[in-house]
Amino acid sequence: MLTERIWSGNSLRNFHYLIACAATGEALAVDPLEWRMCLAAARRRGWEITQILNTHEHADHTGGNAGLKNATGARVLAHAGAAARIGGVDRGLSKGDLIKVGRTVELECLDTPGHTMTHVCLLSHTEEPALYCGDTLFNAGAGNCYNGGEPGALYETFAMQLARLPDTTRVYPGHEYMARNLEFTLDREPSNADAAELLGKAKRQRPEEAVVTTLGEEKRVNTFFRLESPQVIARLRAAFPDLDEHPDPQTVFIRLRELRNRW
Ligand SMILES: [Zn+2]
Ligand SMILES: [Zn+2]
Repeated sequence: MLTERIWSGNSLRNFHYLIACAATGEALAVDPLEWRMCLAAARRRGWEITQILNTHEHADHTGGNAGLKNATGARVLAHAGAAARIGGVDRGLSKGDLIKVGRTVELECLDTPGHTMTHVCLLSHTEEPALYCGDTLFNAGAGNCYNGGEPGALYETFAMQLARLPDTTRVYPGHEYMARNLEFTLDREPSNADAAELLGKAKRQRPEEAVVTTLGEEKRVNTFFRLESPQVIARLRAAFPDLDEHPDPQTVFIRLRELRNRW
């Protein structure tokens, strides 16, 4: 399986991905908003884009569908529940569906509500797993929930699905927000040395060269995976004096998400 990450350079800081079969050169484009950049990247590599996948229905993920479909004839895949809102969807996806790219690539569809209620992530079935996570999980952060989402559902997705994937899973999010998110982690957990170290790197790197983290690293630097950290809880109780001394992880997650909305 070959992956190419394409930096949009736009103000929303979108990342696009091409996932290709090394044997046949067939490729799937994930959320190709700047579709001409995706097409040019595929041509440079000698790949043919045969499928387009939208992780969810927001326009900054679906806005390139028509252009890329016209140029390539690719089929469009998206969550079955989002298909009507997106329009032009050829295959509606459900939890556990397998998506094949060429002969060698197999991707599993995870149903991951929270950022919106019809959001999918893709998990590669490869020795070193990869997760294409749209606006669910960002580097050191979590998607917002104020455009059709629900923070309780996002917590469930994090705790019951993402946190259980192997620590070696490589994380490919839909936007580049690493430095800003690490600053939030450090605001919540100032003693987090891993986050401080990664922030140094994140501030020096150009977005097109941004490091790819693993889920194991995310568990160390992403405050939304650190719901049991005594410092996270103590500082949250300072911000929300009504909070219990031993809040449950879902409450911690929801309050962190609320703080991040206005931070
Ligand atoms: Zn979104
Ligand atoms: Zn987005």
